Amino acid sequence: MKVVFLDRDGVINEERGDYTWRISDFEFVDGLWDALTVMQDNGFKFIVITNQGGIAKGLYSHKDVKEVHEFMSKEFERNNIHLLDVFYSPYHDIKGKSLSRKPDSLMLEKAIALYGIDTSESFMIGDSERDIIASEKVGVKGVLVSPNQNLLEIIRKIIR
Ligand SMILES: [Mg+2]
Repeated sequence: MKVVFLDRDGVINEERGDYTWRISDFEFVDGLWDALTVMQDNGFKFIVITNQGGIAKGLYSHKDVKEVHEFMSKEFERNNIHLLDVFYSPYHDIKGKSLSRKPDSLMLEKAIALYGIDTSESFMIGDSERDIIASEKVGVKGVLVSPNQNLLEIIRKIIR
């Protein structure tokens, strides 16, 4: 199985410069569905890999994150995109280190083991250097995009 690992904030939804944990603040990036459709038509499945350190900071709860992800998953479904799974890391360095938090790669390792993912055929799209560092730790090619960038033209360069 080949997968596109997607960072969440700044890739799927607009990076607001603050934590996004309310559905009302969750705004899908322009062109997202077209880009995901192109990738899906090329045989990729999707897994979201997101740091949610606001939980460790006490700004919001697991329940908040799960509600946002339920909303996000339904929108994927509505746009005929199959979202395989969502992994989030609730940790933050100020409250104790975790290997799941990007730039560490435990979330990716779990996903790869769980789904038998072919890392050589997969890639990760992120808007932060730490997304790329995490993916390269597990041999997955990282693609750095600008925050909130329309993904479609990038995807067209990757998939020929
Ligand atoms: Mg991001």
